[in-house]
Amino acid sequence: TRPTLLVSACLLGQPVRYDGHSKGLPATLRDTLAARYRLVVICPEVAGGLPTPRPAAEIHGGDGHAVLRRDATVRTGAGGDVSAEFIAGAAQALQLAQQHGCRIALLKANSPSCGNRQVYSGRFDGQLQDGQGVTAALLGAHGIRVYNETQLELLLAKLAD
Ligand code: SF4
Repeated sequence: TRPTLLVSACLLGQPVRYDGHSKGLPATLRDTLAARYRLVVICPEVAGGLPTPRPAAEIHGGDGHAVLRRDATVRTGAGGDVSAEFIAGAAQALQLAQQHGCRIALLKANSPSCGNRQVYSGRFDGQLQDGQGVTAALLGAHGIRVYNETQLELLLAKLAD
């Protein structure tokens, strides 16, 4: 049977991003993934109770690991604290991944939830910095390898392991 892969909903074309749009992968790539994996799909921010569209949010004072330790917060541009929703969404994503036996995930780069390598600075200045989003951090802490959409070749090569 095919292994399971947790995937960001917006990468599969679901219009769940803060701006009400998706960031869907090309159809051929989606087909390749679906042929090789059983896809388990979630948008952590929607799962955590946030509406779509919603104000853009960034992590202040650290990365997703710091948010999970309550040492940093996720805030909208207007200053609203949405940390609780981001943490709840991460917990839902972890639960879903564990329920389906996902050892790997393909999550959208640079998102304050899904980013696996970089997130925005927290100053809403368009600058990226090293660090993980809240969901990527929680999944990683539980041994799930997180890839982003620019690392698809790595992910597909992993099947040859
Ligand atoms: Fe996509 Fe993740 Fe943002 Fe949801 S939280 S819109 S799945 S990047």
